[in-house]
Amino acid sequence: MTFSLHGLPVARGVAIGRAVLMASSRVEVAHYFIEPERIASEIDRLRSGRNAVIDELHRLQLSVAQMGPNDAPHELSAMLDVHLMLLQDEALTSGVKHWITDRLYNAEWALTTQLEIIARQFDEMEDEYLRERKADLEQVVERILRYMKGVASPVAPPTTPRRKTQQDLLLDDTVDVPLVLIAHDLSPADMLQFKQSVFAGFVTDVGGKTSHTAIVARSMDIPAVVGARAASQLVRQDDWVIIDGDAGVVIVDPSAIILAEYGFKQRQGELERERLARLRHTPAITLDGERIELLANIEMPDDAPGAFKAGAAGVGLFRSEFLFMGRQGHLPDEEEQYQAYRRAVLGMEGLPVTIRTVDVGADKPLDRATKDEAHLNPALGLRAIRWSLADPAMFRTQLRAILRAAVHGPVNLLIPMLAHGSEIRQTLSLIDFARAELDNRGVAHGAVQLGAMIEVPAAALTVRMFLRYFDFLSIGTNDLIQYTLAIDRADESVAHLYDPLHPAVLRLLADTIAECRAQGKGVSVCGEMAGDVQFTRLLLGLGLRSFSMHPAQILAVKQEVLRADAGKLAAWAQQVLTTEDPAALLLAKG
Ligand code: PEP
Ligand code: MG
Repeated sequence: MTFSLHGLPVARGVAIGRAVLMASSRVEVAHYFIEPERIASEIDRLRSGRNAVIDELHRLQLSVAQMGPNDAPHELSAMLDVHLMLLQDEALTSGVKHWITDRLYNAEWALTTQLEIIARQFDEMEDEYLRERKADLEQVVERILRYMKGVASPVAPPTTPRRKTQQDLLLDDTVDVPLVLIAHDLSPADMLQFKQSVFAGFVTDVGGKTSHTAIVARSMDIPAVVGARAASQLVRQDDWVIIDGDAGVVIVDPSAIILAEYGFKQRQGELERERLARLRHTPAITLDGERIELLANIEMPDDAPGAFKAGAAGVGLFRSEFLFMGRQGHLPDEEEQYQAYRRAVLGMEGLPVTIRTVDVGADKPLDRATKDEAHLNPALGLRAIRWSLADPAMFRTQLRAILRAAVHGPVNLLIPMLAHGSEIRQTLSLIDFARAELDNRGVAHGAVQLGAMIEVPAAALTVRMFLRYFDFLSIGTNDLIQYTLAIDRADESVAHLYDPLHPAVLRLLADTIAECRAQGKGVSVCGEMAGDVQFTRLLLGLGLRSFSMHPAQILAVKQEVLRADAGKLAAWAQQVLTTEDPAALLLAKG
């Protein structure tokens, strides 16, 4: 039966595909298709994982039997029995084989898919004892996954299936249909993994519009909806799902008519993209001759060539923290970081690359495990520059790697979340220290422009102090809005209050831009506002001439720039700044 769910639209377009439910396993799981000739070896891999766990449990049973009755509680041996029984359960093994054989899922994906299905059956059970066996099943599956992690997969890395037309979709019901991912939550590190993967769109129960999960989805340029509440409980494995990333709507099990309607919308979106693609080589100049710099936000060095192709004038924000995530505590050393930054610099072919020092914390934990032990209020805690300054040796390692990469092309060094003069001075002296260390080692390094992010109201209110130390500023509106309005950007329950047009936010933005311009210093916006076409004219009117966004948004923003008269917009923007309801004025401007 058709039903729809509502969430927050985060990445535009329409995706139509079959649902893949992501089990909330604490073990990282890869998702990819295997070649048919690998079916047998994939089943073997699974069998070895399962047998290893059975052996382990048998050994445990033996040692329990050797203990005295006082040392070994009865519950322990009963639990081992239950786990062994679950491991040999037909529903688990035959189900997993089905996903591998008929769908060509890799073993880990097949296992977590089947876990999700059985877990739901447990949820529906009347008997409380049986319902609680779900946790045992999850533990057993996690044990298998951990064993399998130690066994290298013999198959090729993930591949992306070709995009299906609507006609294909209606006719074809085999393995090669698009898949959409439905999850309770996805960490930014999960998202990074999915960047290489097969999914045509995704939906999560939680998350805000500028949560980092949403940001990575936007960078993947696939339709996505977050904050869809109970989606992961209501959608079933394999359901047909339409994701409308423009409206924030998810339609489950659609009728043929609805499917046809969204197929049409999908095609229209593709045509619009083809039309915009023609603007790629058009310079971004307003009607009254103002040249506008459109830069790219990237997460990984390999995003750089795509940004270059999309016509970016450089990288305005390289979120370096993604190099640090999902590594179980082993942070990248200087050489690994240097190679990564160098790749990004070379990928931009002589255009400037702004590398932001690591910004972990808040909704960007280093590892999933660390999220569990997160501080009470992580967005206000040891995040970004605070984290870096708390470990100066680690910070200097990153600084040296960035300074070395500057030998290969123009590099700007950007520091996140500064608020205090003392933090600025400490940071600058560590940069000097890092330079001196390279000199002492006789290692080459290049000159960099130094920039600070303005994303804490305290920084926006002391821009003059910042400009005494820095060559340029970059306004992080995602956090500036979060901290000005006291709204957690990752929390869907307060998403309606997260308002880029709040007069307080606009005032901080306007004053920061005006002060930089008055002093002849560079200023850009690299938060999500910069890539949202509803705000392009307002930002132009406030005097902004440099915008940094996901590469996929550049052409749409350029179209707005080409239609704008910056001079006329300046007068209008002053009105927007002083009105009580800026949104109404923006709407009136059409
Ligand atoms: C911002 O806060 O606007 C920003 C660009 O940084 P991030 O989204 O990575 O916090
Ligand atoms: Mg930020």
